[in-house]
Amino acid sequence: MNTPYPHLLAPLDLGFTTLRNRVLMGSMHTGLEDVGDAHDRLAAFYAARARGGVGLIVTGGFAPNEDSIVMRGASILDNEAEADKHRVITQAVHEHGGRICLQVLHTGRYAYTKQPVAPSPLKAPINPATPREMTEADIAKTIADFAQCAAMARHAGYDGVEIMGSEGYLINEFIAPRTNHRNDRWGGAFENRIRFALEVVRAVRERVGREFIVIFRVSMLDLVDDGSTWDEVVALAQALEKAGVDIVNSGIGWHEARIPTIMTSVPRAAFAEVTRRLMGQVKIPVIASNRINDPQVAEDIIARGDADMVSMARPFLADAEFVNKAAAGRADAINTCIACNQACLDHIFSMQVASCLVNPFACHELDVAIEPTAAAKRVAVVGAGPAGLSAATVLAERGHRVTLFEEANEIGGQFNYAKRIPGKEEFGETLRYFRTRLQELRVEQRLGRRVGAGELSGYDHVVVAAGVVPRRPAIPGIEHPKVVSYGDAIMGRRPVGAKVALIGAGGIGFDVAELLTHADAGGDLATYRKEWGIDVGYSANRGGLVQPEPPASPREVWLLQRKPTKLGEGLAKTTGWARRLLLQKRGVHMLGGCQYLRIDDAGLHLRIGDEERVLEVDTVVVCAGQEPRRELVAGLEAAGTPYTLIGGADVAAELDAKRAIWQAAEFAVEF
Ligand code: NAP
Ligand code: SF4
Repeated sequence: MNTPYPHLLAPLDLGFTTLRNRVLMGSMHTGLEDVGDAHDRLAAFYAARARGGVGLIVTGGFAPNEDSIVMRGASILDNEAEADKHRVITQAVHEHGGRICLQVLHTGRYAYTKQPVAPSPLKAPINPATPREMTEADIAKTIADFAQCAAMARHAGYDGVEIMGSEGYLINEFIAPRTNHRNDRWGGAFENRIRFALEVVRAVRERVGREFIVIFRVSMLDLVDDGSTWDEVVALAQALEKAGVDIVNSGIGWHEARIPTIMTSVPRAAFAEVTRRLMGQVKIPVIASNRINDPQVAEDIIARGDADMVSMARPFLADAEFVNKAAAGRADAINTCIACNQACLDHIFSMQVASCLVNPFACHELDVAIEPTAAAKRVAVVGAGPAGLSAATVLAERGHRVTLFEEANEIGGQFNYAKRIPGKEEFGETLRYFRTRLQELRVEQRLGRRVGAGELSGYDHVVVAAGVVPRRPAIPGIEHPKVVSYGDAIMGRRPVGAKVALIGAGGIGFDVAELLTHADAGGDLATYRKEWGIDVGYSANRGGLVQPEPPASPREVWLLQRKPTKLGEGLAKTTGWARRLLLQKRGVHMLGGCQYLRIDDAGLHLRIGDEERVLEVDTVVVCAGQEPRRELVAGLEAAGTPYTLIGGADVAAELDAKRAIWQAAEFAVEF
């Protein structure tokens, strides 16, 4: 095959059917599953990914019965009338040559309902409700419900099902001694703990027949105490194969694990090594998962023999055309998932429909479209940060003639800071994508020069995306030479000493703290594993945990804020906890309720409550937020040039890239 990715794009023969390539779009809850009448939107979402070349899609989780729902209102698939509504999804995917499996998910003790059920009545640390212990009758009914759900998936035209057996959900709860304290035939010895998983698979297989894909997601590494041993993982996979499973997918880490497994600081393909250990132990295909977002990384996994197939989920929110672009040798044109979670998982946890920070059109396929303009205009976009890049590319795609002005010598704005934070290098991929897009769309770029309102008077419209200026709080001594801006600290333009105080603990304060306390312990992967205590070789404990050995921080850092609340409270739900925990591991002092008195040779003078103290620091880095940058506006108004403010230049408070990119795209679509 004439492609840079011959292993990834090779077909996979399952005996009774052949997948067109080794790319699985992994299960991902979009929130549309629970809207009730959003089957058309789901169909459009999945059809775009099938058109984009994905070999096999797995839907978000659907519950087999009332007990198994994620929360009230979540979708249950247990009857033909409900299954018929799914036909629009399966047909749309098949029309584009794709295959699609429905994920059957029983959330067990993770259900946000009044009365979750579980093998044993043990409360999960991430759910306030204590589950009810399942009776023998509950277990028998649940097995039958799994089978009924799978049969309904078949009725709806799905090509198969994925049985969710990892991440700490019900089936995983039966498998692990941590959550299964039963002493009947469903608990105790390993053979008893895996009985539920095997009975579910057997019942499903019996209902759906032979020629229907059954994937089982095995927890390869629980990352919690009292999880499975590696020998148990292998024995389970072998027993599942015998029971009728066609493909084993990998799950990594329970939801209650206090170890990040998918966020951007997790190195790419960090867990492929675990999946590799299963290769050769079963004859059915094995899928690698987690933090795979690039076709070369995926190709290498299969070429090395780490897996037969690769699962990517969020990368298909970021770019529906990922596979087609890879196949065409255009990896440079892929809009890469940066694993930020900000518009996908964080949306789901706040009851919003998922989308994507770098692709705000994801999951909005039916309500937003980039249409060619009927009246092309000359548009100047001032500022090439995330907002300006988003506006310039969407405007150009619609046929407007766009000139992009940027004072710096490179595009990117605040993303140029983000990509320098250890573990946030992925932000550089977004800039690579935009660079490619600007060239493809022939956007004229004028970099390295500040533009004045006078030069812009010939344009039909000016988009002011000039971003922000860092706030400089009025603290006595703020002019002291030991005070450094966050931009200078991140870019290494000013030296930072061994003892550092950070004024401000928002997203940037946390970023700077991570940068200043980062120590390399033998490469990204080794550092990540040591810092979090991950043992992919299972050399010591069940669950793959060892005592973390965070490398010593090169600096002593104080992270400060005026609010008396917990630091990092405003950080994103799905990543903030890990960022706080990381800084704790690195010994960062986090102080709230600070009143900044002055900065002098002795350091930073503070008052916290009634106590005054001096932090004897060498450097004070100011991370106190930003103000909008709008100096162009007066000139544009004086000249009568029409303009629109977007991104940080519009509202700096709570500025984030998600809002900036979305606001810019929305403006450009409607302009
Ligand atoms: P921010 O989140 O608004 O935080 C500003 C910090 O400065 C707060 O801790 C605030 O706390 C403090 N502050 C505000 N005014 C001050 C003043 N006059 N004097 C002293 N302290 C003051 O801003 P940011 O950290 O610059 O981040 C900007 C945006 O970028 C964020 O909203 C975030 O969405 C985004 N971002 C996100 C990430 C991420 O990882 N998701 C990373 C970087 C940036 P007190 O008022 O309590 O002192
Ligand atoms: Fe990836 Fe972030 Fe988009 Fe989610 S929001 S798909 S993590 S880039």
